[in-house]
Formats: sequence, C-alpha cells, structure tokens
Amino acid sequence: MPRVGVLALQGDVREHVRALTALGVEAGPVKSHEQIESIDGLVVPGGESTTIGRLAERFGLIDPLRRRIQEGMAVFGTCAGMIFLAAGVTEGTQPQLGVLDIVVRRNAFGRQNDSFEADIPIRGLDEPFHAVFIRAPWVEKTGSGVEVLASVDEHPVMVRQGHIYAASFHPELTDDDRVHRMFLDRVATDS
Ligand code: GLN
Repeated sequence: MPRVGVLALQGDVREHVRALTALGVEAGPVKSHEQIESIDGLVVPGGESTTIGRLAERFGLIDPLRRRIQEGMAVFGTCAGMIFLAAGVTEGTQPQLGVLDIVVRRNAFGRQNDSFEADIPIRGLDEPFHAVFIRAPWVEKTGSGVEVLASVDEHPVMVRQGHIYAASFHPELTDDDRVHRMFLDRVATDS
C-alpha cells in the first residue's frame, strides 16, 4: 500500500490525512527528514506559504524535499502548498521549492473575493468540482511543460507538470474525493 505524507509544518494537515486515509492509503503527517525519505507521495497543505517556507528552511527540509520531488516522488500542493512548490511569486521573494515551473500571484482574487466557492470543470473529471477558494493564488505564468487542468476567469487554478500537481483551492474541505483520487492514481502508478 502506498504511503502518502502530508507536510505538517502549518496549515490544514488533518483534513488531508482524513481525505487520503478514506481512500485507503496509509497517510500521516510528516515533518522530519527521515519521514520525507520514507514516503511514496506528498501533499503540501494550504495555510500560509511564508510560514510553511520559513519553517521548512529552519528544519532543513528544503533540500530533501526538492531532491525527492526532482527524483520523481509525486506531490500535490494546495493553495499555500501550490505557492511553496512554485518557481516564483509575482511580488517579493519567499522560500520556495521551485520544482514546479509556474509563477503565482498570491491572494490573487482580491479582497472582495477573499473566499469564494465555484463549480469548476477540471480536465480528467466528468462533472464539475465544487472548489473552495480561501485567499487563493492564481497561476500567472506557466512553463512549457505545465498542463493547465482548471481555470477561473481564464486564470489557471489547477496545473500539472508530470508527477507534480497543484491547485489553488482546497479539495480537503469538501466531501468530493475526486481530486485526491486523481493524485493517488499517480502515486500508485509511480510506486
Ligand atoms: N494566502 C495564503 C498565502 O499566500 C494562501 C491561503 C491558503 O492556503 N488558503 O500563502
């Protein structure tokens, strides 16, 4: 059975563990170098990307995470997790893994749309997905190897680059497990 870790530095770790466990994989929080070496796939949750980045730096996890993902470990970043995986942000700098060839705009939907929900079509799913956005980023630029799986108002909100998935919404906050399942299919193929 594949083992999937949820990076447990900050953010909605428990909700992802619950969603993954319900799909029949062995899932749990990870926050040490040793744990990072022992998993087949990783979810980076939403929260606050600067906090996740700074804590990852402080605990010496940036290099091990980057290396495992570059060597092919499947990873799925949601919201702040998407920002942490990305190559850059439109404003300022913050610790990022830079494994996903996108530039993201943080809090992109503005104050009025701080949080919202929308039924969005996602490539690979038959029916729209009810997506919850909370101070969400959007993808401002994509590299040539990046496939856009979903957009809102023409701004990409879910992308994939091979084994690296990222969404700017929170699939762990709804009962619909199709997005987690899409990611786990990839983990199962790889492991
Ligand atoms: N606004 C947060 C950030 O920029 C992300 C919000 C979230 O993960 N729900 O890091």
